[in-house]
Amino acid sequence: MDFEDIRDQFPILQRQVHGRPLVYLDSAATAQKPECVVDAESGFYRSINAGVHRGAHELAALSTMAFEEARASMAALVGAESREGGEEIVVTSGATGGLNLLATAFSNASQGAGGAAARRFALGPGDEIVVSKAEHHSVLLPFQELAARTGATLRWFDLDDEGRIRSDMADEVITERTRVVAVTHVGNVTGAITDVAPIVRRAHEVGALVVLDACQSVPHLAVDFHALDVDFAVWSAHKMYGPTGVGFLYGRRELLEALPPASFGGSMVELAWMDRPAQYMAPPARFEAGTQPVAQVVAAGVAARWMMEIGLDRIEAHERAITAELLRLGDVDGVRILGPKDARDRIGTVAFDVAGVHPHDVGQFVDAQGIAIRVGHHCAQPVHRHFGVYASNRASSGVYNTVDEARALVETVGKVRGFFK
Ligand code: PLP
Repeated sequence: MDFEDIRDQFPILQRQVHGRPLVYLDSAATAQKPECVVDAESGFYRSINAGVHRGAHELAALSTMAFEEARASMAALVGAESREGGEEIVVTSGATGGLNLLATAFSNASQGAGGAAARRFALGPGDEIVVSKAEHHSVLLPFQELAARTGATLRWFDLDDEGRIRSDMADEVITERTRVVAVTHVGNVTGAITDVAPIVRRAHEVGALVVLDACQSVPHLAVDFHALDVDFAVWSAHKMYGPTGVGFLYGRRELLEALPPASFGGSMVELAWMDRPAQYMAPPARFEAGTQPVAQVVAAGVAARWMMEIGLDRIEAHERAITAELLRLGDVDGVRILGPKDARDRIGTVAFDVAGVHPHDVGQFVDAQGIAIRVGHHCAQPVHRHFGVYASNRASSGVYNTVDEARALVETVGKVRGFFK
């Protein structure tokens, strides 16, 4: 597959916006879907729709097989396959769902749920949770809430002038009291790739767990959670060419085995009685209470296989070329890039400020040319405060973008200040 063929696989890119060909540069919000993913979701409903893990009929067997195959594909994509397929992969409603699952499970463990085995997740006064100023609110808020509920203290990594997480401060920020460290792999505003190794090394030295927000890395980079040695990771299918409403939580198997559940209901229980506590199933089922978004999971598995078929190294090289071109926005008079200037330190996302022009005006101006970017605070207010702005404009790429499209955005942004003078 060359990148022109890849682009042709996205039906939505055929459409026009305001009479112009659509230039979609908002993939960090949600990526467009290739035909194979759209077909997988509708094909599931057309031919094998049934509940999974129950039912003795043919359709139930086929849907269960497709569901578990998708989990295994996702495991293969993120370097979790070597430990018996998908047992380290839990289906969630999205990255936000995965982060809330973890925070709730840790909170439950802090109240004694899960017994002695779960004590490693329990927090209390004097314990510390570490995040960073670069976090999406979906990381910041669940862990802030966890700190409030358990009496633990929230601490954070500061950022350098270009918005990189100060991993070099790991020895000071992570202390003997730290129990959990939750950081982003790639910033959703800065696009900065976090130097995860010093954080993981220090966290493990003090016995803390590392949670990685991989929302903005899985779509662009070859990610291997075993090699990164993180304990948990989350990401969303819809940002990696899959459907909305579904995401995944990676957890080291021995940790998932000890972690108490966060939600309760059907399909996660081995034995239930009226007068005794229930006996929960082993992971991943223990964390998948209720009917799962099966068609979406199956289609997400197709997206994972499709990405592996293209090749993660090729995807990364392509995205790096687009990112480098987007960084030319920094040459436009009055435009400031939020994030590293060096293209090698970032991927996929380029947020920028246009002096004297409100991001909503910038967004509408480029939209009139058929170019879709995101404006606002991108659910990451602290990082904007770090740069001294409330909001920004954000261009973000996918496999379907071309260098010409990035160039078109740079040229269009070049006209913004003249227009709003
Ligand atoms: N973390 C990062 C870095 C993100 O970019 C996003 C999505 O915007 C999220 C978390 C939350 O993802 P979702 O809204 O799919 O749960």
